[in-house]
Amino acid sequence: MTDQRSRVQELIQRLRERGCRITPQRLAILHILTRDQSHPSAEDIFKELYTQFPTTSRATVYKMIAVLKEMNEILELEFSDQSNRYDGNRPYPHTHLICLYCGAISDPEHAGLDDLPRELALHAGYELVSYRFDVYGICPACRATK
Ligand SMILES: [Zn+2]
Ligand SMILES: [Zn+2]
Repeated sequence: MTDQRSRVQELIQRLRERGCRITPQRLAILHILTRDQSHPSAEDIFKELYTQFPTTSRATVYKMIAVLKEMNEILELEFSDQSNRYDGNRPYPHTHLICLYCGAISDPEHAGLDDLPRELALHAGYELVSYRFDVYGICPACRATK
């Protein structure tokens, strides 16, 4: 798990290098994106931001996400049946566990799992560019209330 404070500092530095001004709203978005493994949606981020900055708009969130995506500093997970979710801690492809009931997304710790795509690609003579590996199930919290 990345240390949140250093991840936020790293993002601030990269954004500044691009000439991006770090407003209090933008800083709050960076904190929400890196705070935990919840993989928030843009709407999740907006709702939380709104409690601190009632004058903020959804555009502020979408703009920040777009900039971070362009910089390859955020991983976007697209779904056909729900909103896109974002990982600001690990901006590179990795395995996700997804709960079919509550929509929780987490990064499972499993040594070797993320080496597999590289090995598969190498074996087939591919140069690995990206991959997507989602494991669907019912999370412990949902299983407990079933
Ligand atoms: Zn669940
Ligand atoms: Zn993730």
